[in-house]
Amino acid sequence: MHASSNTTFPLYDDLYAGTDFSSLSWLEQQWAAWYIAIGNPVIATGLMSFLLHEIVYFGRSVPWIIIDAIPYFRRWKLQPSKIPTPKEQWECTKLVLFSHFTIELPAIWLFHPLAESIGMSTYQVPFPSIKSMAPQIAFFFFFEDMFHYIAHKALHTGILYKHIHKIHHKYSAPFGLAAEYAHPAEVMILGAGTLAGPLLYCYFAHDFHIFTMYVWIVLRLFQAVDAHSGYDFPWSLQHLLPFWSGAEHHDFHHMAFTNNFSTSFRWWDRICGTDTKYQEYRARVEAAKKAMKNATRAQKDAMEQKLMEEVEAEGMRAEAEVERSASKTVKLH
Ligand SMILES: [Zn+2]
Ligand SMILES: [Zn+2]
Repeated sequence: MHASSNTTFPLYDDLYAGTDFSSLSWLEQQWAAWYIAIGNPVIATGLMSFLLHEIVYFGRSVPWIIIDAIPYFRRWKLQPSKIPTPKEQWECTKLVLFSHFTIELPAIWLFHPLAESIGMSTYQVPFPSIKSMAPQIAFFFFFEDMFHYIAHKALHTGILYKHIHKIHHKYSAPFGLAAEYAHPAEVMILGAGTLAGPLLYCYFAHDFHIFTMYVWIVLRLFQAVDAHSGYDFPWSLQHLLPFWSGAEHHDFHHMAFTNNFSTSFRWWDRICGTDTKYQEYRARVEAAKKAMKNATRAQKDAMEQKLMEEVEAEGMRAEAEVERSASKTVKLH
């Protein structure tokens, strides 16, 4: 039996008639219980999506706030001289919350009707198998990374940078909470890359469950928050998967302003030659470390600090140049 999308308060029978609850997993039972309790699939999906996003985004940011407060972890901080202050973190949180409530909440609310119109399963149980979800999620990672690379590069040009993306570059040394610190237009543009994969897949394959999308969004949120964390641990994912971007890759983007435009993977920057400065910088740090084999830790840190400052100064010049090109474009019109 199928509930029509205009059913305001579908009863248990409308949504789950004929469902054998004893055959479901604990999570699937909770899922059905949520839809039954809320009684309206549009509200149930909207509320769950919003809560999932808030809980995962801020929940994942909390460990990084704690790590920033403990000096022991500085040895793995990519830009150790730049620890975010509580005031900075609070300012950042306020803007992030503002865009969550003004942009994401309405967008999430419109999502259920859109999802249903292209045949996405929402309240239905059981969930798809891990075997069928895994390749879909791999495709979403690939698609989002490619989309983000193109859109992010476009956001680094003239007026798009000056009026939109500049906000995200407020922090030259990012921290977890700053992952979604951005202009509302940027949240929409780059968020489209996260949503378009599942929507396109569903549109063409006609067999897609919103649960798969939630798994993807949770993974994508972890990726985004971690990439902004500012820490590179020996056990960070990029040391296991050399093509994974991680914090080490994206932190350089914030520090140097140019290079490293992708989100999850390193391949587009490598193929398109937008990681040459990053490669040079890493080679310079390695060479200097080798040459200073017998130096003290403090001397090595001072050397690394100096190299970082050079890259950052160069980045500030590049940023000023982009902004100047924006004013020129405006004057021409
Ligand atoms: Zn950028
Ligand atoms: Zn960023």
